[in-house]
Amino acid sequence: MKDLIIEMEQYASLHNVPIIEKESITFIMKYIKANKIKNILEIGSAIGYSAILMASTAQDVTVTTIERDDTRYMECLKNVKKCGFEQKINVVFQDALDVNLTDVSYDLIFIDAAKSQSIKFFEKFKYFLKDNGTIITDNLKFHGNVGKSSEIESKNLRSLVGKIENYIEFLKNNPEFETKFYNVGDGLSVSVKKDEKK
Ligand code: SAH
Ligand code: MG
Repeated sequence: MKDLIIEMEQYASLHNVPIIEKESITFIMKYIKANKIKNILEIGSAIGYSAILMASTAQDVTVTTIERDDTRYMECLKNVKKCGFEQKINVVFQDALDVNLTDVSYDLIFIDAAKSQSIKFFEKFKYFLKDNGTIITDNLKFHGNVGKSSEIESKNLRSLVGKIENYIEFLKNNPEFETKFYNVGDGLSVSVKKDEKK
């Protein structure tokens, strides 16, 4: 397991796969343990690095993870097999915005896919969250660019960073969720669904 994790980190750095930072996955693994989270939905598997680490937190933790890129999907399947997690991790090869989920609900949804689409993912998948469930989002700092979109010269980057800034505002003003922001790794948000009765 430890060797596989190191192997995946090396693969990611060699092939420019943007896997989660160590500090951030450590934070999420602690959150999973502390809140006794059992079933997780991940948007953006890449090669399975974060899915495998989340699934490793306890025997009864399961992860459904969605990836639209075929090379990464294949690599993810390979890694899930290598660590014997075929029963714990379900890898779905599809665009998350096209996925049809039925009759399932998750304790935790981890949004870590296209950064321009975070609001869409949030709005689509919040219906598949249990009461008091959590949505965690990665890369809210986007390597130090967030908060400075007006100073960015590249139009594409400025637009992307602007969308992350909008997402942060969306979370802050969302009446259904209580969101905390954490300055760990590339920036994380933890949004807990409020009790409807309150
Ligand atoms: N969670 C992974 C890293 C994911 S990188 C880890 O930390 O180990 C983001 C991934 O999301 C990329 O592989 C990209 O192909 C995928 N992605 C982006 N938009 C997507 C979408 N709409 N549906 C499915 N996958 C998507
Ligand atoms: Mg990320």
